[in-house]
Amino acid sequence: MAVIIKTKEQIEIIREGGKILADVLRKVAKKVAPGISTYELDKYAFDLIKEKGGTPAFLNYRPEGAPKAFPASICISVNNEIVHAIPLKTRILKEGDIVSLDLGLKYKGLFTDHAVTVAVGKISKKDQDLLDKTKKALEVGIIAACGGNTVGDIGHAIESFVNRKYGIVRELSGHGVGVKIHEDPYIPNYGKAGKGQKLIPGMIIAIEPMLNIGKDNIVGASDDWTIKTADGSHSAHFEHTILITEGDAEILTMI
Ligand code: MG
Repeated sequence: MAVIIKTKEQIEIIREGGKILADVLRKVAKKVAPGISTYELDKYAFDLIKEKGGTPAFLNYRPEGAPKAFPASICISVNNEIVHAIPLKTRILKEGDIVSLDLGLKYKGLFTDHAVTVAVGKISKKDQDLLDKTKKALEVGIIAACGGNTVGDIGHAIESFVNRKYGIVRELSGHGVGVKIHEDPYIPNYGKAGKGQKLIPGMIIAIEPMLNIGKDNIVGASDDWTIKTADGSHSAHFEHTILITEGDAEILTMI
């Protein structure tokens, strides 16, 4: 599949959708507190998206080769879970947890993707540093995503910033987004400067570093969806959908 350069009209709609998604995810993040179930957060996200005239992009999403479709609107991954955990009534958040919220939106036929990791009450210094560094890694990646640079420049910037202080999830990556939820190119969170697909104005991509306190390695869970750290260490995830321009990228999943 070739890289899709978005039209002006598509960019306008995706810009609008990005603002809605940012607003919804911020509201869901604010609801995170000890005692709430991940199921309740999922229901809240679904209701907010419907209220805005959108559709949750992950609900019933079934990637090629996946044994079953994702049964919820938002992925809510706790502590050693990296991504794609299914919200459950029995999954009650508690003080000291870190929670990754990953939400995709379909709005007027076009897609945006956004994730944050937040604290439940008071968290350890170690976890707070993980959150801060992962958020910063995303910013560093976005700064590298200026027109004329390459996908390798993004990965290289993130990997250099992390500087082996944390594990970098390598099997999962950022991606093109817009016409579909996942498009070409892949945007790995590691790489060589100047290598790979050139960043062309009008491309829309999601950059999403996932960092682990321990090693890079991941394992799948028996629910066929959740991906966890192999060593049980905590993991964080931040993601923005951005527009490639001639100069600095424009963050679209922002209010
Ligand atoms: Mg994504």
